[in-house]
Amino acid sequence: MYIGIDIGGSHIAIGLFNNEKIMIKKIVKDINNTYSCDDILEYIILTIEEIQKEYSNSIISIGIGVPGIVSNGVWVKANYLKINNFPICKKLQEELKINVYVENDSNCAAIGEIVKGKTSYNNAVFITVGSGIGGAIIIDNKVICRDNSAIAEFGHVNYERNGLKCSCGNNGCFSQYASMKALRKRISDKLNIPIVNNNQVLELLKNNNEIAKEELAKQIECLKVLFGNIINILDPEAIIIGGGFAYFKEYFNFDFDNTKDKYVYNKNSTCKIIVTDLGNDAGIIGAAFQKTYR
Ligand SMILES: [Zn+2]
Repeated sequence: MYIGIDIGGSHIAIGLFNNEKIMIKKIVKDINNTYSCDDILEYIILTIEEIQKEYSNSIISIGIGVPGIVSNGVWVKANYLKINNFPICKKLQEELKINVYVENDSNCAAIGEIVKGKTSYNNAVFITVGSGIGGAIIIDNKVICRDNSAIAEFGHVNYERNGLKCSCGNNGCFSQYASMKALRKRISDKLNIPIVNNNQVLELLKNNNEIAKEELAKQIECLKVLFGNIINILDPEAIIIGGGFAYFKEYFNFDFDNTKDKYVYNKNSTCKIIVTDLGNDAGIIGAAFQKTYR
């Protein structure tokens, strides 16, 4: 059996998979930015020791997806958790005596799409639009990964020179305009009510709230610019959208002709813009099976 762990800014999700790659158990714990590396480590160790007991020590490997940059088993950096060169694989291996692998969370989500997604694109771009914006590039059914690199960090591609300050330290990054966090903040500011989660935004849209509709339209237009840029660089077979934004799919329609008219050089591009059908599980699945697909 295999374990996949998705560590996000607001949760740790642990999934147990059988040898047919089917998830048979999932445990989710909410965390916040007061959690230290040691807190995260302790929780993972305790949970996996429990699972080992329950399934008579049958775990073959543990794969972890984390935000930020990784290198050779070390979690180098994450913007919103205070991480600095944390040797997560070594520490877990010492405690649990199981092989441990770590990879960037967006890369894991893209691997999840290769392993379990209903789509069959060998060359695609996966983009997670959540609190931030992340991404991964799939070429010949493998995700491009390299130690100490931040490949396909689409959220930090520049959208507006001298624009809004980003958590990465630069100004004007796409994530400050097109992420779910940015959308929530704009609606919150305009309506003067605290918007703390995406469900509140969905509720406003359901009730035909004009401000929510307007701000969502701005986010969609901004994403079209980003998708146009991606197509101009890679012209993939598909751009697959994941993350919290995927749950808004009844409220957007990326009319590709419209995106192409305005932002794409190759008017004959056949790139499809689609939404993942794996929801948030893509990250856990990809974390578990990362070794084979990178
Ligand atoms: Zn940035």
